[in-house]
Amino acid sequence: MADRAFNFSAGPAQMPDAVLRRIRDDLPVARDASTSVLEMPFTGTEFRAIAEAAEARLRALLGVPGNYKILFLHGGAMAMFALVPLNLLRGRRHAAYVDSGYWAARAIAEARRYCDVRIAADNADCGRARMPPMSQWRLDPDSAYCHVTSNETVDGLEYSFTPETGDVPLVADMTSNFLTRPVDVSRYGLIYASAQKNVGPTGLAIVIVREDLLGAAHPLTPSVFDFARQGESRSMLNTPNTFAVYVASLVFEWIAQQGGIAAMEEAAIRRSRRIYSVIDAGSFYRCSAAPDSRSRTTVCFQLADPSLVPEFLAEAEAEGLSNLKGHKAVGGLRAALYNAMPEAGAERLASFMEEFARRRG
Ligand SMILES: *Cc1c(COP(=O)(O)O)cnc(C)c1O
Repeated sequence: MADRAFNFSAGPAQMPDAVLRRIRDDLPVARDASTSVLEMPFTGTEFRAIAEAAEARLRALLGVPGNYKILFLHGGAMAMFALVPLNLLRGRRHAAYVDSGYWAARAIAEARRYCDVRIAADNADCGRARMPPMSQWRLDPDSAYCHVTSNETVDGLEYSFTPETGDVPLVADMTSNFLTRPVDVSRYGLIYASAQKNVGPTGLAIVIVREDLLGAAHPLTPSVFDFARQGESRSMLNTPNTFAVYVASLVFEWIAQQGGIAAMEEAAIRRSRRIYSVIDAGSFYRCSAAPDSRSRTTVCFQLADPSLVPEFLAEAEAEGLSNLKGHKAVGGLRAALYNAMPEAGAERLASFMEEFARRRG
Protein backbone atom coordinates (compact mmCIF):
# COMPACT_ATOMS: atom_id res chain seq x y z
CA MET A 1 0.00 0.00 0.00
CA ALA A 2 1.31 3.48 -0.86
CA ASP A 3 2.84 5.44 1.98
CA ARG A 4 0.02 7.21 3.70
CA ALA A 5 -0.34 9.74 6.48
CA PHE A 6 -1.02 8.82 10.06
CA ASN A 7 -4.62 9.91 10.39
CA PHE A 8 -5.52 11.41 13.78
CA SER A 9 -9.12 12.16 12.79
CA ALA A 10 -11.70 11.54 15.51
CA GLY A 11 -13.91 9.79 12.97
CA PRO A 12 -14.20 8.46 10.36
CA ALA A 13 -10.84 7.33 11.59
CA GLN A 14 -7.75 5.42 10.58
CA MET A 15 -8.35 1.75 9.75
CA PRO A 16 -5.84 -1.08 10.17
CA ASP A 17 -3.76 -1.45 6.98
CA ALA A 18 -4.22 -5.22 7.04
CA VAL A 19 -8.00 -4.78 6.98
CA LEU A 20 -7.87 -2.29 4.11
CA ARG A 21 -5.72 -4.68 2.06
CA ARG A 22 -8.06 -7.55 2.80
CA ILE A 23 -11.09 -5.48 1.69
CA ARG A 24 -9.28 -4.51 -1.53
CA ASP A 25 -8.27 -8.09 -2.32
CA ASP A 26 -11.65 -9.62 -1.52
CA LEU A 27 -13.98 -6.93 -2.84
CA PRO A 28 -14.64 -8.41 -6.32
CA VAL A 29 -15.37 -11.86 -4.88
CA ALA A 30 -15.63 -12.37 -1.14
CA ARG A 31 -13.70 -15.25 0.41
CA ASP A 32 -15.72 -18.49 0.65
CA ALA A 33 -18.40 -16.90 -1.53
CA SER A 34 -19.36 -16.53 -5.18
CA THR A 35 -20.08 -12.78 -5.34
CA SER A 36 -18.83 -9.48 -4.02
CA VAL A 37 -19.94 -8.70 -0.50
CA LEU A 38 -21.54 -5.59 -2.01
CA GLU A 39 -23.85 -7.76 -4.10
CA MET A 40 -24.93 -10.38 -1.59
CA PRO A 41 -28.61 -10.66 -0.74
CA PHE A 42 -28.78 -10.10 2.99
CA THR A 43 -31.13 -13.03 3.40
CA GLY A 44 -28.78 -15.48 1.68
CA THR A 45 -26.53 -17.98 3.38
CA GLU A 46 -23.33 -16.17 2.39
CA PHE A 47 -24.20 -12.89 4.09
CA ARG A 48 -25.75 -14.71 7.02
CA ALA A 49 -22.43 -16.41 7.61
CA ILE A 50 -20.68 -13.03 7.58
CA ALA A 51 -23.18 -11.51 10.02
CA GLU A 52 -22.98 -14.50 12.35
CA ALA A 53 -19.19 -14.37 12.34
CA ALA A 54 -19.30 -10.65 13.15
CA GLU A 55 -21.53 -11.25 16.12
CA ALA A 56 -19.59 -14.26 17.38
CA ARG A 57 -16.27 -12.44 17.13
CA LEU A 58 -17.56 -9.41 19.02
CA ARG A 59 -19.15 -11.63 21.66
CA ALA A 60 -15.84 -13.42 22.16
CA LEU A 61 -13.74 -10.24 22.23
CA LEU A 62 -15.80 -8.50 24.91
CA GLY A 63 -17.03 -11.62 26.69
CA VAL A 64 -20.66 -10.62 26.11
CA PRO A 65 -22.89 -12.82 28.31
CA GLY A 66 -25.57 -15.01 26.72
CA ASN A 67 -28.45 -12.89 28.06
CA TYR A 68 -27.36 -9.88 26.00
CA LYS A 69 -28.35 -9.22 22.39
CA ILE A 70 -25.87 -7.72 19.95
CA LEU A 71 -27.51 -5.53 17.30
CA PHE A 72 -26.05 -3.98 14.16
CA LEU A 73 -28.24 -1.00 13.33
CA HIS A 74 -28.38 2.02 11.08
CA GLY A 75 -28.28 5.59 12.27
CA GLY A 76 -25.06 6.04 14.21
CA ALA A 77 -24.79 7.16 17.80
CA MET A 78 -26.95 10.25 17.29
CA ALA A 79 -29.90 8.02 16.46
CA MET A 80 -29.23 6.15 19.71
CA PHE A 81 -29.68 9.41 21.63
CA ALA A 82 -33.39 9.12 20.71
CA LEU A 83 -33.64 5.33 20.51
CA VAL A 84 -32.38 4.73 24.04
CA PRO A 85 -35.30 6.62 25.63
CA LEU A 86 -37.78 5.19 23.10
CA ASN A 87 -36.70 1.64 23.92
CA LEU A 88 -35.73 1.83 27.59
CA LEU A 89 -38.16 4.21 29.29
CA ARG A 90 -40.63 1.30 29.55
CA GLY A 91 -43.47 3.55 30.64
CA ARG A 92 -41.40 5.60 33.08
CA ARG A 93 -41.21 9.35 32.81
CA HIS A 94 -37.67 10.13 33.81
CA ALA A 95 -34.15 9.01 33.17
CA ALA A 96 -30.82 9.99 34.70
CA TYR A 97 -27.98 11.45 32.66
CA VAL A 98 -24.44 12.42 33.55
CA ASP A 99 -23.55 15.69 31.84
CA SER A 100 -19.82 15.29 31.27
CA GLY A 101 -19.10 17.14 28.02
CA TYR A 102 -20.03 17.85 24.43
CA TRP A 103 -21.51 14.44 23.54
CA ALA A 104 -23.30 13.93 26.84
CA ALA A 105 -24.94 17.34 26.34
CA ARG A 106 -26.14 16.34 22.90
CA ALA A 107 -27.51 13.04 24.23
CA ILE A 108 -29.33 14.97 26.95
CA ALA A 109 -30.81 17.51 24.51
CA GLU A 110 -32.21 14.69 22.39
CA ALA A 111 -33.51 12.70 25.38
CA ARG A 112 -35.39 15.79 26.62
CA ARG A 113 -37.69 15.38 23.62
CA TYR A 114 -38.84 12.04 25.07
CA CYS A 115 -38.57 12.24 28.84
CA ASP A 116 -37.81 14.21 31.94
CA VAL A 117 -34.00 14.19 32.14
CA ARG A 118 -32.56 14.34 35.64
CA ILE A 119 -28.89 15.18 35.81
CA ALA A 120 -27.23 12.68 38.16
CA ALA A 121 -23.89 14.50 38.03
CA ASP A 122 -22.07 17.07 35.96
CA ASN A 123 -18.60 18.55 35.70
CA ALA A 124 -19.46 22.19 35.00
CA ASP A 125 -17.98 23.33 38.34
CA CYS A 126 -14.50 22.16 37.34
CA GLY A 127 -14.78 23.47 33.78
CA ARG A 128 -15.19 19.95 32.41
CA ALA A 129 -11.72 19.01 33.60
CA ARG A 130 -12.67 15.59 34.97
CA MET A 131 -15.37 12.96 34.93
CA PRO A 132 -17.62 13.48 37.98
CA PRO A 133 -16.45 11.15 40.77
CA MET A 134 -19.12 8.81 42.19
CA SER A 135 -19.10 10.73 45.48
CA GLN A 136 -20.81 13.63 43.65
CA TRP A 137 -23.57 11.62 42.00
CA ARG A 138 -27.19 11.96 43.04
CA LEU A 139 -29.06 9.16 41.32
CA ASP A 140 -32.80 8.74 41.70
CA PRO A 141 -33.37 4.99 42.15
CA ASP A 142 -36.64 5.26 40.15
CA SER A 143 -34.83 6.36 36.98
CA ALA A 144 -35.60 4.21 33.94
CA TYR A 145 -31.85 4.10 33.28
CA CYS A 146 -28.69 6.12 33.84
CA HIS A 147 -26.81 7.31 30.75
CA VAL A 148 -23.09 8.05 30.68
CA THR A 149 -20.63 8.93 27.91
CA SER A 150 -17.67 6.68 28.59
CA ASN A 151 -15.26 8.81 26.56
CA GLU A 152 -15.90 12.46 25.78
CA THR A 153 -14.42 12.70 22.29
CA VAL A 154 -14.41 16.50 22.13
CA ASP A 155 -13.34 17.26 25.72
CA GLY A 156 -10.73 14.51 25.99
CA LEU A 157 -12.18 12.89 29.13
CA GLU A 158 -12.62 9.20 29.93
CA TYR A 159 -13.94 7.34 32.96
CA SER A 160 -11.27 5.44 34.82
CA PHE A 161 -13.99 3.54 36.73
CA THR A 162 -17.26 1.79 35.96
CA PRO A 163 -20.10 3.85 37.46
CA GLU A 164 -22.10 2.07 40.16
CA THR A 165 -25.83 2.59 39.60
CA GLY A 166 -27.36 -0.16 41.71
CA ASP A 167 -30.62 -1.43 40.21
CA VAL A 168 -30.81 1.41 37.70
CA PRO A 169 -29.62 0.03 34.33
CA LEU A 170 -26.38 1.68 33.27
CA VAL A 171 -26.38 2.85 29.63
CA ALA A 172 -23.11 3.92 28.00
CA ASP A 173 -22.26 5.73 24.80
CA MET A 174 -18.91 4.01 24.17
CA THR A 175 -18.48 5.34 20.66
CA SER A 176 -14.97 6.68 21.12
CA ASN A 177 -13.43 4.07 23.42
CA PHE A 178 -15.26 0.92 22.34
CA LEU A 179 -12.93 -2.12 22.23
CA THR A 180 -9.99 -0.11 23.60
CA ARG A 181 -10.23 -1.47 27.17
CA PRO A 182 -11.84 -4.44 28.87
CA VAL A 183 -15.47 -3.93 29.85
CA ASP A 184 -17.52 -6.02 32.26
CA VAL A 185 -20.65 -6.06 30.10
CA SER A 186 -22.73 -7.51 32.94
CA ARG A 187 -22.43 -4.16 34.76
CA TYR A 188 -24.35 -2.47 31.92
CA GLY A 189 -27.95 -2.54 30.76
CA LEU A 190 -27.01 -1.24 27.34
CA ILE A 191 -23.84 -0.24 25.51
CA TYR A 192 -23.81 1.49 22.14
CA ALA A 193 -21.14 2.69 19.75
CA SER A 194 -21.04 4.24 16.33
CA ALA A 195 -18.68 2.25 14.13
CA GLN A 196 -16.55 4.89 12.43
CA LYS A 197 -14.21 5.45 15.38
CA ASN A 198 -12.93 2.06 16.46
CA VAL A 199 -14.76 -0.44 14.31
CA GLY A 200 -15.09 0.47 10.65
CA PRO A 201 -17.12 2.47 8.16
CA THR A 202 -19.85 5.00 8.95
CA GLY A 203 -23.54 4.23 9.00
CA LEU A 204 -23.44 1.43 11.55
CA ALA A 205 -24.25 1.48 15.23
CA ILE A 206 -23.57 -1.47 17.50
CA VAL A 207 -25.91 -2.05 20.44
CA ILE A 208 -25.31 -4.57 23.23
CA VAL A 209 -28.40 -4.83 25.39
CA ARG A 210 -29.62 -6.99 28.26
CA GLU A 211 -32.63 -8.98 27.11
CA ASP A 212 -34.87 -8.34 30.11
CA LEU A 213 -34.90 -4.60 29.27
CA LEU A 214 -36.49 -5.26 25.89
CA GLY A 215 -40.07 -5.64 24.75
CA ALA A 216 -41.60 -2.43 26.10
CA ALA A 217 -40.53 0.13 23.51
CA HIS A 218 -42.68 3.22 23.04
CA PRO A 219 -45.50 2.34 20.58
CA LEU A 220 -44.31 5.00 18.11
CA THR A 221 -40.77 3.56 17.90
CA PRO A 222 -40.03 2.80 14.25
CA SER A 223 -39.95 -0.98 13.79
CA VAL A 224 -36.39 -0.99 12.46
CA PHE A 225 -35.32 0.83 15.62
CA ASP A 226 -37.22 -1.39 18.05
CA PHE A 227 -34.39 -3.23 19.79
CA ALA A 228 -36.60 -6.21 20.70
CA ARG A 229 -37.78 -6.70 17.11
CA GLN A 230 -34.29 -6.27 15.71
CA GLY A 231 -32.99 -8.72 18.30
CA GLU A 232 -35.52 -11.33 17.23
CA SER A 233 -34.64 -10.88 13.57
CA ARG A 234 -30.86 -10.78 14.13
CA SER A 235 -30.74 -7.14 12.94
CA MET A 236 -32.29 -8.13 9.61
CA LEU A 237 -35.77 -6.68 9.90
CA ASN A 238 -34.78 -4.65 6.87
CA THR A 239 -31.62 -4.52 4.77
CA PRO A 240 -28.72 -4.05 7.18
CA ASN A 241 -25.58 -2.09 6.32
CA THR A 242 -24.06 -5.25 4.91
CA PHE A 243 -20.71 -3.76 3.89
CA ALA A 244 -20.17 -2.12 7.29
CA VAL A 245 -21.01 -5.37 9.10
CA TYR A 246 -18.52 -7.20 6.88
CA VAL A 247 -15.75 -4.67 7.60
CA ALA A 248 -16.58 -4.66 11.32
CA SER A 249 -16.13 -8.41 11.36
CA LEU A 250 -12.70 -8.07 9.74
CA VAL A 251 -11.73 -5.50 12.38
CA PHE A 252 -12.90 -7.83 15.18
CA GLU A 253 -10.79 -10.59 13.68
CA TRP A 254 -7.80 -8.23 13.43
CA ILE A 255 -8.16 -7.25 17.11
CA ALA A 256 -8.21 -10.92 18.12
CA GLN A 257 -5.08 -11.54 16.04
CA GLN A 258 -3.30 -8.66 17.82
CA GLY A 259 -3.99 -10.28 21.19
CA GLY A 260 -7.54 -9.11 21.90
CA ILE A 261 -8.82 -6.30 24.09
CA ALA A 262 -5.99 -6.62 26.62
CA ALA A 263 -3.46 -5.91 23.87
CA MET A 264 -5.58 -2.99 22.62
CA GLU A 265 -5.60 -1.51 26.12
CA GLU A 266 -1.84 -1.85 26.57
CA ALA A 267 -1.22 -0.15 23.23
CA ALA A 268 -3.73 2.61 24.08
CA ILE A 269 -1.91 3.28 27.35
CA ARG A 270 1.49 3.44 25.65
CA ARG A 271 0.36 5.69 22.79
CA SER A 272 -1.49 8.17 25.00
CA ARG A 273 1.26 8.27 27.67
CA ARG A 274 3.76 9.23 25.02
CA ILE A 275 1.68 12.22 23.89
CA TYR A 276 0.73 13.37 27.41
CA SER A 277 4.38 13.16 28.46
CA VAL A 278 5.28 15.70 25.77
CA ILE A 279 2.39 17.95 26.83
CA ASP A 280 3.45 17.78 30.50
CA ALA A 281 7.16 18.29 29.81
CA GLY A 282 6.90 22.08 29.57
CA SER A 283 4.50 24.98 29.27
CA PHE A 284 4.32 25.09 25.47
CA TYR A 285 1.35 22.67 25.34
CA ARG A 286 -1.59 22.58 27.72
CA CYS A 287 -4.14 19.96 28.57
CA SER A 288 -7.11 20.91 30.72
CA ALA A 289 -8.11 17.32 31.53
CA ALA A 290 -7.21 16.20 35.06
CA PRO A 291 -4.80 13.24 35.11
CA ASP A 292 -7.40 10.82 36.55
CA SER A 293 -9.82 11.55 33.68
CA ARG A 294 -7.53 11.90 30.70
CA SER A 295 -8.71 10.04 27.65
CA ARG A 296 -6.47 7.38 26.15
CA THR A 297 -8.17 7.65 22.78
CA THR A 298 -8.87 11.34 22.20
CA VAL A 299 -6.02 13.49 23.47
CA CYS A 300 -7.20 17.12 23.41
CA PHE A 301 -4.68 19.87 23.98
CA GLN A 302 -3.97 23.54 23.34
CA LEU A 303 -0.93 25.59 22.47
CA ALA A 304 -0.08 28.19 25.13
CA ASP A 305 0.12 30.58 22.17
CA PRO A 306 -3.04 29.75 20.16
CA SER A 307 -1.86 31.87 17.22
CA LEU A 308 0.61 29.06 16.38
CA VAL A 309 -2.14 26.51 15.73
CA PRO A 310 -2.32 27.06 11.94
CA GLU A 311 1.46 26.61 11.60
CA PHE A 312 1.39 23.54 13.83
CA LEU A 313 -1.31 21.97 11.65
CA ALA A 314 0.41 22.85 8.36
CA GLU A 315 3.81 21.53 9.47
CA ALA A 316 2.28 18.39 10.93
CA GLU A 317 0.45 17.74 7.68
CA ALA A 318 3.74 18.09 5.77
CA GLU A 319 5.21 15.44 8.13
CA GLY A 320 2.41 13.01 7.30
CA LEU A 321 0.41 13.72 10.48
CA SER A 322 -3.17 14.49 9.42
CA ASN A 323 -6.37 15.83 10.95
CA LEU A 324 -5.01 17.13 14.25
CA LYS A 325 -7.38 20.08 14.43
CA GLY A 326 -9.51 20.18 17.59
CA HIS A 327 -13.30 20.09 17.44
CA LYS A 328 -14.74 23.51 16.63
CA ALA A 329 -16.58 23.60 19.97
CA VAL A 330 -13.31 23.72 21.93
CA GLY A 331 -10.64 24.67 19.37
CA GLY A 332 -7.00 23.75 19.86
CA LEU A 333 -5.70 20.36 18.82
CA ARG A 334 -6.81 16.77 19.13
CA ALA A 335 -5.10 13.49 18.39
CA ALA A 336 -7.44 10.53 18.11
CA LEU A 337 -5.43 7.44 19.04
CA TYR A 338 -7.81 4.61 18.33
CA ASN A 339 -6.94 0.93 18.01
CA ALA A 340 -5.76 1.19 14.41
CA MET A 341 -3.20 3.93 15.15
CA PRO A 342 0.20 2.24 15.09
CA GLU A 343 2.54 3.09 17.94
CA ALA A 344 4.86 4.49 15.29
CA GLY A 345 2.17 7.08 14.56
CA ALA A 346 2.03 8.24 18.18
CA GLU A 347 5.83 8.24 18.28
CA ARG A 348 6.09 10.36 15.15
CA LEU A 349 3.53 12.82 16.51
CA ALA A 350 5.34 13.04 19.86
CA SER A 351 8.69 13.72 18.16
CA PHE A 352 7.09 16.34 15.94
CA MET A 353 5.53 18.05 18.98
CA GLU A 354 8.87 18.08 20.81
CA GLU A 355 10.64 19.49 17.83
CA PHE A 356 7.94 22.12 17.15
CA ALA A 357 8.09 23.25 20.81
CA ARG A 358 11.90 23.55 20.59
CA ARG A 359 11.71 25.73 17.50
CA ARG A 360 8.79 27.92 18.58
CA GLY A 361 8.99 27.83 22.36
C1 LIG B 1 -18.81 10.66 17.26
C2 LIG B 1 -19.64 10.49 18.47
C3 LIG B 1 -21.04 10.48 18.38
C4 LIG B 1 -21.80 10.72 17.10
O1 LIG B 1 -21.73 9.63 16.24
P1 LIG B 1 -22.56 9.65 14.86
O2 LIG B 1 -22.21 8.36 14.22
O3 LIG B 1 -22.09 10.84 14.07
O4 LIG B 1 -24.00 9.75 15.19
C5 LIG B 1 -21.73 10.27 19.57
N1 LIG B 1 -21.11 10.06 20.74
C6 LIG B 1 -19.77 10.07 20.84
C7 LIG B 1 -19.13 9.82 22.16
C8 LIG B 1 -19.00 10.28 19.71
O5 LIG B 1 -17.66 10.27 19.81
